[in-house]
Amino acid sequence: MLFDTHAHLNAIQYNDDLQEVINRALEEGVSNIVVVGFDRPTISRAIELAEQYPFIYAAVGWHPVDAIDMTEEDLQMIEQLAAHPKVVALGEMGLDYYWDKSPKEVQKEVFRKQIALAKKVKLPIIIHNREATADIIEILKEENAAEVGGVMHCFTGSVEVAKQCIDMNFYISFGGPVTFKNAKKPKEVAKEIPLEHLLIETDCPYLTPHPFRGKRNEPSYVKYVAEAIAELKGISFEEVAQKTSDNAKKLFGITR
Ligand SMILES: [Zn+2]
Ligand SMILES: [Zn+2]
Repeated sequence: MLFDTHAHLNAIQYNDDLQEVINRALEEGVSNIVVVGFDRPTISRAIELAEQYPFIYAAVGWHPVDAIDMTEEDLQMIEQLAAHPKVVALGEMGLDYYWDKSPKEVQKEVFRKQIALAKKVKLPIIIHNREATADIIEILKEENAAEVGGVMHCFTGSVEVAKQCIDMNFYISFGGPVTFKNAKKPKEVAKEIPLEHLLIETDCPYLTPHPFRGKRNEPSYVKYVAEAIAELKGISFEEVAQKTSDNAKKLFGITR
């Protein structure tokens, strides 16, 4: 039983073989997947997939890289979709200072608006952070995001930052990087932070774990993330799979 808490099966990279990708995930014991939408086309595709497959759920939000494109209508669309029975979170949202398509101030405003919306519709949030940790923490504090909580997706920060996020009611989610030989910080965090605060994800088609690094990622590979955490903690794969799955169900309010 594995729960991939962050997958982009709505990406064009799966146009040709989505069913095979899903079959492989089921064969490897993936029992739940959250497909994350982050702009108009990926949001509508995430909803489609969630309606088509009982074990797929959707998250809807606006990516910080494209913050400059978000209109009031888009925010209203996200609000309407928040009432959909298969939508379990808002996001991904956050700040991305690696790409400079959207100015920082615009990113911050779009991020704050989505946190406010999440509080209104009472859904947890999925946070995307790239080179923006200090500003993310500040905004989460100022907007009192602890009220809804959520997940720091594909976390690559320090133990210190992980603890700050946990104090604000956020889970720490690991993806492919925790399996990379040279990834010191994710390994430290996976070792230090108790399993009750951890989730696993693929962020597919990106960030493919070892031993498939460089190839297209897919939900069946989430087992490599669970294996890496189990090894770092010196506990069984089954315990990591079960507990991270239970954590995800609790966060997303999934009862099945
Ligand atoms: Zn992301
Ligand atoms: Zn993502």
